[in-house]
Amino acid sequence: MHRRTFLAAALPAALGAQTGLRNGLSRAIDEMPLVDSHEHLLPERERLELKPDLFLLASHYLNNDMVSAGMPVASPKTWADFEPWWRVSKFTGYGQALRIAIRDLYGVAEISEATLPRINSAIAGANKPGLYRRILKDRMKLDYAVLDDYWHGDPIPPDEFFVLARKMDWFCTASKASDIRRMEEVTGVSIPDVKGLKRAVERRLDQSLQAGLVTIKSTLAYNRPLRFEVVSEADAQRDFDLLMKEPQGQAPRRLSDHIFHHVLQLADAHKLPVQMHTGLQAGNGNTLENSRPILLNNLFGLYPKVLFDLFHLGWPWMDEVAALAKMYANVTADLCWVHIITPTGARRALHELIDTVPLNKILGFGGDYRYIELSYAHAVMARRNIAQVLTEKVERREMTEAEALQAARLILHDNAARIFPRPASKRV
Ligand SMILES: [Zn+2]
Repeated sequence: MHRRTFLAAALPAALGAQTGLRNGLSRAIDEMPLVDSHEHLLPERERLELKPDLFLLASHYLNNDMVSAGMPVASPKTWADFEPWWRVSKFTGYGQALRIAIRDLYGVAEISEATLPRINSAIAGANKPGLYRRILKDRMKLDYAVLDDYWHGDPIPPDEFFVLARKMDWFCTASKASDIRRMEEVTGVSIPDVKGLKRAVERRLDQSLQAGLVTIKSTLAYNRPLRFEVVSEADAQRDFDLLMKEPQGQAPRRLSDHIFHHVLQLADAHKLPVQMHTGLQAGNGNTLENSRPILLNNLFGLYPKVLFDLFHLGWPWMDEVAALAKMYANVTADLCWVHIITPTGARRALHELIDTVPLNKILGFGGDYRYIELSYAHAVMARRNIAQVLTEKVERREMTEAEALQAARLILHDNAARIFPRPASKRV
């Protein structure tokens, strides 16, 4: 008797069916193409200029956990500096992602002093043209990703793997006259007053649209609370006059609020979705409460035609995002970054989201990484989580297997493709 047939026959029928279901769903979900709602991946030509090694890959996110563990340097360059903090950080989501990347893509099962030379030579050896096609297309099965290339000052058209997200936040954080002068230089618009500042925002958005922008993004939660009051232009002008007279310690709130509302009016006029950072800020210190999703509440009613995609499920306030997405037709729940911040929390949240929010409003994956190896690993973790949650839903008879597959397709591909469609010129 064939070994597999023998094993299947030996299992109790129900257990065999369960294993079959789990394997079947996992396999199907592993093969699904992705539309990835959020990345910071370097264009391939910029990546190939780097001399990548294990420590470079560890420098995105994982280093934050190692600093949190007590690591005294920000970016370790030797095994001796790396190991004590790696030992205690390797089980977090960031640590899991690095281990999956090295195991799956470079064939090394264990990260250790002994394997480090082999890992580094494999990473260096792979760093040549075609790297992105091989990992993003062949391994990760990426259809395309929404790219926030914040390190590029000016908007530039992204390459074939990406569509463009750009921030207008800079215009909401002016605190001194030199900030305004710089905005004039960059946009070519003269800014004598708040009206001029708004014209400059419009010019910048036009430049970004020409480069292929499909969504506005905001990370203002890193700088200020997410509550944006409605402020008159006259009140905003008073703040503008203040900062032109003398530098302010931080961006005056009334001006910042007024300009952000202008950005949302532009999003409305251009039918652009807005990706909002909510929840945990990357790094090792910020004012967490600034990022609470519920602070955005007033905007959803004021701009009913603007779609607000709430990033990172607002972790640790995932319930707030679920509640807001349940109440408002123009709010979606985006799991970008979440499968690596909290792999277990992502499963718990996805279970509850499917219970509370219509399926067309859940965006299941955004890699949110600078290096493709880690986006690949993040996608592996996301697919695993989604398969596990959907398998449990089927086992509890809350959905059929066919419905689970349909849900996975919406969560991994169709919802993001609908909200952030590729510009017609980039469709292949
Ligand atoms: Zn990000």
